[in-house]
Amino acid sequence: MRVIVVGGGIAGLTTALALHRDGHDVRVLEARDDTVAGAGISLWPNALAALDRIGAGDAVRAAGGRVTAGAVRWRDGGWIRRPDPNRLVDALGEPLVVVERPILRDVLSRLLPPGTVRFGTSVEGSAGLDADLIVGADGIGSVLARELNGALPRTYAGYTAWRGVADATFDPVFAGEVLGPGSQFGLVPLGADRTYWFATAQLPEGTWFDDEYAYVRGLVDGWADPLPRLVAATDPAVLLRNDLYDRPTAKVLHRGRIVLVGDAAHPMRPHLGQGGCQAIEDAVTLADCVRTCDDLPRAMMRYAGARRRRTRAVVRDSNLIGRVVNGRPAAVWGALIRSSVLVPDAVVRTRLATIASRRAFTRTLES
Ligand SMILES: Cc1cc2nc3c(=O)[nH]c(=O)nc-3n(C[C@H](O)[C@H](O)[C@H](O)COP(=O)(O)OP(=O)(O)OC[C@H]3O[C@@H](n4cnc5c(N)ncnc54)[C@H](O)[C@@H]3O)c2cc1C
Repeated sequence: MRVIVVGGGIAGLTTALALHRDGHDVRVLEARDDTVAGAGISLWPNALAALDRIGAGDAVRAAGGRVTAGAVRWRDGGWIRRPDPNRLVDALGEPLVVVERPILRDVLSRLLPPGTVRFGTSVEGSAGLDADLIVGADGIGSVLARELNGALPRTYAGYTAWRGVADATFDPVFAGEVLGPGSQFGLVPLGADRTYWFATAQLPEGTWFDDEYAYVRGLVDGWADPLPRLVAATDPAVLLRNDLYDRPTAKVLHRGRIVLVGDAAHPMRPHLGQGGCQAIEDAVTLADCVRTCDDLPRAMMRYAGARRRRTRAVVRDSNLIGRVVNGRPAAVWGALIRSSVLVPDAVVRTRLATIASRRAFTRTLES
């Protein structure tokens, strides 16, 4: 088949690779001129299992660092949750991998024939695209998702996120999250000598500061080590800032020769670290359906059914966690977090395994 993938993010590149490996003639049209942007990304074992199926798992593991902890602490350093790393890894099937986004894109791009990605090409719709299959991998603002579903309005989630990479390390038992009223920090080792972190804070939509970096340093002022130290060791020039938006999942995932993958299909809040992982699952599942079904309409139907079933709970849980950890008023927020401590680790682990384990993905291909 001749395939055009619209969008060269994680979803687009992985879809291109998965279909290219099956012998299809794939082009990726990407609006941006370059590929630079974006701190780190956690890839959970479900995504690593999907990458293994297209021969990219080991290259991605080699490019990133492994994380086994899943700590949750208060901003004063007190523990909210301290899961046993061995049990966590057993439940998930392997440690998760944290990799710099530009490096992930390079790893995936290098497995594609040179010239597959055409930069600086913004697509306005499917009309005029000469292909047997058009994959909409164009993110939360997807023009192809709107072509299939109408408006899909975006609404501000009520908080904003910063991401950074610190030239500093910390005791890996603290890898995980730190919570304060209206703010959440995530921190994970990025290889041997650096740290990827993200932070959220409640702010009116579009609030920009003359000095974003100073604002984030102020946010962690007085918080327990290592957060103030990590933010201080971050290059302000590479700090990323995004207001977070909710957008409905696309009800129509395919029509005719068009199909949606990644954030174009099912954007979600970042709290489970699954948006990119589900995009990778979409890509590999799509190729699997095309390979194993007799014709394209059947492949599209099977893909849409499998991905709808799989992503529904992930989107719901990601959005729910976002509402809880960024919730107000502070007293209700504190009570909710404290009550979550009563949920036994084994229950949390089992729930996480249904979303993020290797088996969570491989099972979807069997159904
Ligand atoms: C703070 C934060 C932390 C996160 N952390 C994690 C994490 O740890 N793990 C994880 O799995 N996920 C995480 N995510 C989610 C993850 O970043 C997204 O789910 C993922 O990047 C979606 O990939 P995508 O390729 O579908 O979309 P995008 O990354 O948005 O890529 C879409 C691409 O399409 C291009 N494009 C758009 N419109 C057009 C057009 N009309 N024509 C041509 N090209 C177009 C864009 O330029 C872009 O390159 C996080 C998100 C945030 C905000």
